[in-house]
Amino acid sequence: MDEKSIDKDVILKELDELHNLDHNYADGRILGSMCTEAHPFAKEIYYKFLDTNLGDPGLFKGTKLIENKVIESMGEILSIEKPYGHVVTGGTEANLMAIRAARNHARKYKGIVDGEIIIPESAHFSFKKAADMLNLKIVEADLDDNYKINVGSVKRLISDKTVAIVAIAGTTELGLIDPIEEISKIAYENNIYFHVDAAFGGFSIPFLRDMGYDLPVFDFSLDGVCSITIDPHKMGLAPIPAGGILFRKEEYLDVMAVDSPYLTVKTQSTIVGTRSGAASAATYAVMKYFGKKGYSKLIKELMDNTQFLKENLEKIGYEIVCEPELNLIAFNHPNMETNEFAEKLEGFGWKVSVAKCPVAIRVVLMNHIKLNHLKELVEDLKEIF
Ligand SMILES: *Cc1c(COP(=O)(O)O)cnc(C)c1O
Repeated sequence: MDEKSIDKDVILKELDELHNLDHNYADGRILGSMCTEAHPFAKEIYYKFLDTNLGDPGLFKGTKLIENKVIESMGEILSIEKPYGHVVTGGTEANLMAIRAARNHARKYKGIVDGEIIIPESAHFSFKKAADMLNLKIVEADLDDNYKINVGSVKRLISDKTVAIVAIAGTTELGLIDPIEEISKIAYENNIYFHVDAAFGGFSIPFLRDMGYDLPVFDFSLDGVCSITIDPHKMGLAPIPAGGILFRKEEYLDVMAVDSPYLTVKTQSTIVGTRSGAASAATYAVMKYFGKKGYSKLIKELMDNTQFLKENLEKIGYEIVCEPELNLIAFNHPNMETNEFAEKLEGFGWKVSVAKCPVAIRVVLMNHIKLNHLKELVEDLKEIF
């Protein structure tokens, strides 16, 4: 740290220089990210609520009410009237909370000590962090030929140590939706906690279903679903860090509660202590601003862009890994190794990401990627081919 105060202009210049090293969404060149530029109104509100602390909700009663409203609104699109939950930093923290709730619940009511969680091979790496922190063993269910969780495999992996089963609504690598209704039934019949990770699909599947897209049910309308992760900072256009964890019953929060002696409330169930209410307020603002109609229109555009890219890829001769279900396409060059193909694309100035299972280039059709960017991409792909 400097001894003396530095002039603001000097600091700004240094920060701007460093910020310039970042890629920006507006270029439309970031193809592999699930994040995008937040809506300007959400950013404005974010700044306004920056100093609020939801870690001490007795001092910030109004902001706490806003968090409750956000959870309720997200609950509405996830088919639950009275959800319990929190606005958290993202999908990772939401998944961590879900698994912590499941573990504590199983410990308290079933006496399970060395617990296991069943997750699909396609699960986000946040579950590895959760298992590590919570001392749980991961048991991986196979995928079927369509890269979705194999229901038979889940059945076979259930044991008297299983504390949770996880399925995904919008996988990170391929954007696919697991057969959640079937898994929900199995979890319900076996009295096992079932968590749905809809970090990616939570802000799109409900609207797409309402518009008539043929997508499966994945939410609290299924009896077995105990909790859902949903990320406003992906297609919800809220500023990072905004995640959501919703529980069906209050007891899942209760089993995580620890005493919080010096605060205005007696217990705390969140992992984070001091936490800004900015994400809650900004998420509330952007959800109100768009409404179901606004989000539907946004998501429809993303799906149209996905269709555009898919048709053009096929026209030129690229191989699509699977039929896209959401705004994500994974594809390969028919006779070029994926990493070499990725390097070629990087050479053209595209920021791509490579999926591992199966190995393929993945493009997440987020809001910053416009049709004109896709046309440029298709031209470059023609040249590479
Ligand atoms: C993005 C994502 C996560 C992780 O969310 P973060 O906000 O990056 O912590 C978890 N699960 C799925 C399915 C995701 O797509």
